[in-house]
Amino acid sequence: MIYLDNAATTQTGERVLNAMIPFFRESYGNASAVYSLARSSKKAVFDARKKCAELIGAYPNEIFFTSGGTESDNWALMGAYDSYVINHSPDGKNIKGHMITTAIEHHAVLRTAEHLAGRGVDVTYVKPDGDGFIDPEDVVRNIRPDTFLVSVMTANNEIGTIQHVSEISERVHALRKDVLVHTDAVQAYGQTDIRMLTGKVDLLSASSHKLCGPKGTGLLYIRDGIKISPFIRGGMQESGRRAGTENVPGIVGFGEASAIASETMEDKINTEVKLRDLFIEKLSAIPDILINGFYAPKDHMKRLPGNISVCIKGIEAESALIMLDRAGICASGGSACATGAMEPSHVLKAIGRADDEAKGSLRFTLSDRNTEEEIITAAGVMAEITDKLRNGKKHL
Ligand code: PLP
Repeated sequence: MIYLDNAATTQTGERVLNAMIPFFRESYGNASAVYSLARSSKKAVFDARKKCAELIGAYPNEIFFTSGGTESDNWALMGAYDSYVINHSPDGKNIKGHMITTAIEHHAVLRTAEHLAGRGVDVTYVKPDGDGFIDPEDVVRNIRPDTFLVSVMTANNEIGTIQHVSEISERVHALRKDVLVHTDAVQAYGQTDIRMLTGKVDLLSASSHKLCGPKGTGLLYIRDGIKISPFIRGGMQESGRRAGTENVPGIVGFGEASAIASETMEDKINTEVKLRDLFIEKLSAIPDILINGFYAPKDHMKRLPGNISVCIKGIEAESALIMLDRAGICASGGSACATGAMEPSHVLKAIGRADDEAKGSLRFTLSDRNTEEEIITAAGVMAEITDKLRNGKKHL
C-alpha cells in the first residue's frame, strides 16, 4: 500500500505507541487522584505538556489538552464569544458582536461560526486570492468596534497554503488589543516551524493524529493572561479550564509525537519537500492539470511541505480515488458528498476553481516515511488513470 493521505490522519508511530502502552497497563491511575499509582499519570501529563509547549515555543501553562482539533476550534470560538458576552452584557441581552474568519477554514471553524451567527453574531468571511492567501489588510480593514475575534488558519488542509498569521496578529493587536486572534494550526503543528506564532496569537488549535500521535487528543494554546470561558464544564482538570478525566495515554502519545517532531522537523521538511517536488514534476506531465494553491519548488514557508493538491480536467475525483484504491494507493478528493451529489469544496471554489475543475480535484499528502519509488509509482498510476477516465474507462 502507498499511503498518501497524511493530512487526513497518520499511522501512530512505534515510539509513540511504546510510550503510551504503560498508561493502559500498569500506570492506569486517574491523574487527579492523590495515591502513588496516580502520581506517574500526573507526571506523564506534566511531561507531555512540556513537550507540546516546546514544539511551539510556548510555556507549559499555556497548553490545555482537549479531545482533538475540532474541540479546540469549538472552544476557541465559543469561549471567546461567551467571554465577550459576559464582559459586555452580563444578562446576555442586546449583545451581538462581530467576528472575522476566512472562507477557507476547516468546517470545525466554519460550522461553529455559523452556530454563532445563529445567536446573532455578525460573521465576516475574508476571501483568499487565487493562490489561497488571505491578505492581512483585508482582515484589518474589517475590524469594527464590536469585533471580538479574528480566526485565520495557519495552513490550509486542502491546498496547503500557509497564511501570514504572525503579521495578521500583530496588525490586529496594534489596532485593538482586546480582539482575540485564534489560529487553527491543526495542519501546521509538527509539520512546519510555528514558534513565531506563540506570544503573538492568543489562541492556537492543534491535533495529535496529524503528526503520528493517537487520535482523539488535541490542544488549545491559550496565551498567558488570556481569559476565555470553558467549553467543557465539570471537574477541575486542566487548571479548571477544561473538565473531564485526562486521557493520559492519548496525552502521553501526543507529547511523544511532539518531541519527535521537535527532534526531526528539519530533516522531515527536507524529505517531504523533495518528494513533493518530484511528485509535482511527474504529475505535470499529465495534460490539463492545475496545481491548487501557491507552489514554488523547494519552498516550505508558503506551502506545507507534504501537500500536493491538483485539479485534473476531464476526470471525476470520485472515480479516480476508487481506481487509486484498487491500485493500493490512498489519497483524497477535494469534494464532499453533501446531498448525494458531489459538492465542490468550499476551498477550491474560494480560490476561483470552476465547478467542473473542482470535480477533478485530488489531494496527496506525504510523510517522511514515503519513498521516491512510491512517488514515481503513484504518479505513473495517476497518469494511467487520467488516460482511462478521459477515454470513458473506469478500470485500470
Ligand atoms: N482543523 C483542520 C485544519 C483540520 O485539517 C482538521 C482535521 O482534518 C481539524 C481542524 C479537526 O481536527 P480533529 O480531527 O483532531 O478533530
